[in-house]
Amino acid sequence: MVTRSTRPCQTPAWKRELAQAFRTVEHLIEALGMSAAQIPDIDAEAGGYPLLVPRRYAELMTPGNPMDPLLRQVLPLVAEHQTTPGFLQDPVGDGAAERGDGLLQKYAGRALWLVTEACGVHCRYCFRRHRRSAAGAMTPARIERVLGRLRADPTLHEIILSGGDPLLLDDPVLGRLIQRLGQIAHLKRLRLHTRLPIVLPSRVTEALCETLAQTPAATLIVVHANHPRELAGDVRAALGRLRQTGSTLLSQTVLLRGVNDRADTLAALAEGLFDCGVLPYYLHQLDRVSGAAHFEVSDREALTLIETLRARLPGYLVPRLVREIQGADAKQPLYPC
Ligand SMILES: *Cc1c(COP(=O)(O)O)cnc(C)c1O
Ligand code: SF4
Repeated sequence: MVTRSTRPCQTPAWKRELAQAFRTVEHLIEALGMSAAQIPDIDAEAGGYPLLVPRRYAELMTPGNPMDPLLRQVLPLVAEHQTTPGFLQDPVGDGAAERGDGLLQKYAGRALWLVTEACGVHCRYCFRRHRRSAAGAMTPARIERVLGRLRADPTLHEIILSGGDPLLLDDPVLGRLIQRLGQIAHLKRLRLHTRLPIVLPSRVTEALCETLAQTPAATLIVVHANHPRELAGDVRAALGRLRQTGSTLLSQTVLLRGVNDRADTLAALAEGLFDCGVLPYYLHQLDRVSGAAHFEVSDREALTLIETLRARLPGYLVPRLVREIQGADAKQPLYPC
């Protein structure tokens, strides 16, 4: 019999870790040996988008450095309250692509399912930062409706689980979902878009790996990683476990001012990912979401960075520099003009 229990011995380690994550600006910067007064551009209240940072991710930051590139990704700043022309609430047109119950289709042959709103970390530049309660919970009825739609559309060959972070679903829930998806023969590929193996690598459990190894679909895991210092020992081990499931591992990175806008950083990230069995896939130009304008890198700078990477790395380690454009039939590559 399966019983619901919150006893510590039955709660997976990753959930306990997440429960202990930093949730206030004050606690995070205190742990880094700083005070709010030392960081003049900080927003101690975190506006309408709360801070969330797993402790082990904070441990990778350099104490006393307010400009640490890992800290900058998660630290609320007063600049988030500025309105900037062209920076919108829903910059990539998710609303228009919604086919109901969190299922989005923008591109041929593949659909993306927002299976949760929750994340293991709150990235300040997130393009879904204003959408945090729209998709709703995954009730059995919603799941059946989406599965029905997927089953009825043989033009779909790939289902992408996204969110939020799909790995925030519990193993039994995710396992059942992947098993059901595996029964739809035209869905030949199952893809997960996740940041959890990077920020909370204990999430890569044995049960998750078993689920991935057992599904008849080919599995791809696209991890969101932005800086070479994120690839700590426990992350490397987690990526190794994922690799052993036979999954193809790819990465996506958001190009962020003050975080990874240097060729050295991007080159070290690409080489570090390769060492973990991950091939660089996309380098995204920032989605122009309101509150994130201070992270933007100009197209000209972005193209120069890519040229530098091309001159330094084998072609397979150079990510595709892309931007999402509402209504386009694919992510759009950036070209010099
Ligand atoms: C980004 C995205 C995809 C994936 O695009 P690929 O080019 O296949 O990686 C699929 N569906 C939606 C809705 C997306 O936003
Ligand atoms: S992990 Fe992805 S979805 Fe979650 S807050 Fe960060 S960018 Fe947004």
